[in-house]
Amino acid sequence: VIDIGTPEHSVVTTCAYCGVGCAFKAEMRGEEVVRMLPYKDGKANRGHSCVKGRFAWGYASHKDRITKPMIREKVTDPWQECSWEEAIEFAANKFKGIQEKYGKGAVGGITSSRCTNEETYLVQKLVRAAFGNNNVDTCARVCHSPTGYGLKTTFGTSAGTQDFDSVEYTDVIMVIGANPTDGHPVFGSRMKKRLRDGAKLIVADPRKIDLVESPHVKADHHLQLTPGTNVALLTSMAHVVVTEGLVNESFVRERCDWDDFQEWASFVAEDRNSPENMEQYTGVPAETLRGAARLYATGGNAAIYYGLGVTEHSQGSTTVMAIANLAMATGNIGREGVGVNPLRGQNNVQGSCDMGSFPHELPGYRHVSNDQVRELFEELWGRPVDNEPGLRIPNMMDAAVEGTFKGLYVQGEDILQSDPDTKHMVAGLSSLECLIVQDLFLIETANYAHVFLPGSTFLEKNGTFTNAERRIQPVRKVIAPKNGYEDWEITQLLANALGYPMNYSHPSEIMDEIAALTPTFEGVSFDKLDKEGSIQWPCNEMAPEGTPVMHVDEFVRGKGKFVITEYVPTDEKSGPRFPLLLTTGRILSQYNVGAQTRRTANSEWHEEDVLEIHPHDAEQRGIRDLDWVKLQSRSGGTTLRAKISERMAPGVVYTTFHHPKTQANVVTTDFSDWATNCPEYKVTAVQVMPSNGP
Ligand code: SF4
Repeated sequence: VIDIGTPEHSVVTTCAYCGVGCAFKAEMRGEEVVRMLPYKDGKANRGHSCVKGRFAWGYASHKDRITKPMIREKVTDPWQECSWEEAIEFAANKFKGIQEKYGKGAVGGITSSRCTNEETYLVQKLVRAAFGNNNVDTCARVCHSPTGYGLKTTFGTSAGTQDFDSVEYTDVIMVIGANPTDGHPVFGSRMKKRLRDGAKLIVADPRKIDLVESPHVKADHHLQLTPGTNVALLTSMAHVVVTEGLVNESFVRERCDWDDFQEWASFVAEDRNSPENMEQYTGVPAETLRGAARLYATGGNAAIYYGLGVTEHSQGSTTVMAIANLAMATGNIGREGVGVNPLRGQNNVQGSCDMGSFPHELPGYRHVSNDQVRELFEELWGRPVDNEPGLRIPNMMDAAVEGTFKGLYVQGEDILQSDPDTKHMVAGLSSLECLIVQDLFLIETANYAHVFLPGSTFLEKNGTFTNAERRIQPVRKVIAPKNGYEDWEITQLLANALGYPMNYSHPSEIMDEIAALTPTFEGVSFDKLDKEGSIQWPCNEMAPEGTPVMHVDEFVRGKGKFVITEYVPTDEKSGPRFPLLLTTGRILSQYNVGAQTRRTANSEWHEEDVLEIHPHDAEQRGIRDLDWVKLQSRSGGTTLRAKISERMAPGVVYTTFHHPKTQANVVTTDFSDWATNCPEYKVTAVQVMPSNGP
């Protein structure tokens, strides 16, 4: 027990780590935070928290924190500290020069799901109104962009259908490609409680995650599929539903497009989609799969929870649509206890997507080609908005290598460490004439930057985050920004220096603008958030109190749309040179690339990434527990320690991606989702060999 003395005052704010969105009371003495206590009235966490939110906030005052702006002409020059005025002028002049020389499309911006809604909104406004193009993207590109595509196509909007409370009314929980115990711990505990109270559990995962068998929870079916075969697995589950007469026909007739359904039903009923035929791809015994499908369709209220093991595949968007098909066919949508629930990785993935940070969509998921929507924005912003989608992150890097893209503003995201195909990313970043990085630390991407603008932590800003259940929650300034500015203010400085005036005096004014332009946010304001604590969008005239469960009477798109989900094997194949398949994931104590958690005491719990390998594969290679091994793919190699584990099936290995010295993405491929370019992080053919160490 640490004696912290008596706190003098406290501020309620929201955790900046995962998509659960736990509310915390930051207890203070003077200007110093002495303790973070989970807030008992937090609607997403009800007084609970995990080790990240509770303890891993000390990075805010870590010695590595950069608090002064820096500039340099060439990336080989040493950094020069300068004033904010100098840095902003330097950056703006570079961007103006690039646009004069190469055209207005030669620059772009990337925002982050770690930032607030207001900051993200402002970055896309900067790009669209001040840069004059749609070259804006977000780190959701590499995680949940297929959720955006898949749920918008089938249901009409890109959002989880339920609130977290809904799990208490669920009879069958299906978890696919997610590990809530490590990735979403507070919600994971809630899920486990429901399982202890009697709900049934289906887990589809190549790894025996904690939920498959832990002291008080055991999965009724573990579908231990081969990485890359989600679509085969879900389509064969649908085959069982259709061919065994388990379709909820009254729901489908009333709520879905009947013609689409019939076409889809004929497709899934084909023999080639049977569990027996799909077994050759999935590796899941047909009888196990049939049992799981029957349980999902007939076990009462059934809810699907999924994560990046669904989206980060060449068929990520198809997998999301296959999940939606299954939920609609069995009538598991539109009431408590059922639904389709993407477990968002970062704190504000939902929000960053809502705020129009994709190159094809304005805030509220409205396509840039929609004249009426564009006019709304043009009128308020006073600038024309391009009607053509802009460049996605991978396209920006391609264009940089080709020499047509020259300037990039990156707020709060280490794209070099988190994006795939590191070599290509290095080639792209080093071709830029001006890279502006706005971050807390000199992250890996900053090695290629010309301007470093020090950012602010979640403790130093006002704004909102939106969690995985569409819950908009206040982020409140607890201490003054150590760098002098909140992140939205820095974007505003840049806009003004570029000749596009922005004059907000508080993020509440940005939210008012969002509400004026976005029908699903119409009823949201900081005053209302202060009063209510949180609001789940849509919040408007039709739903003034917000919306815990979506698609109750009809889908956002009207009739639910069934989509044919043909299984197409990934081009990434194992073979004699690379006989194993690598898949990746997270661990409880660390967060993403670890820029924050590695700078707290949490780093002691997980000092390095390790490679989990099945005892049979290890023995064949003469590898013992904790030996150094070389992990090699067609793209590249890295060295790390081996952990012999029966959690893996033979032929499959697993690692986390929290440490830059491992650089797991040196190994991953450049294959990506056909619809959204979300990288295929979850399947890489590799070889593993003993090594003497790095
Ligand atoms: Fe809650 Fe997630 Fe933060 Fe843990 S990391 S405290 S589960 S929001």
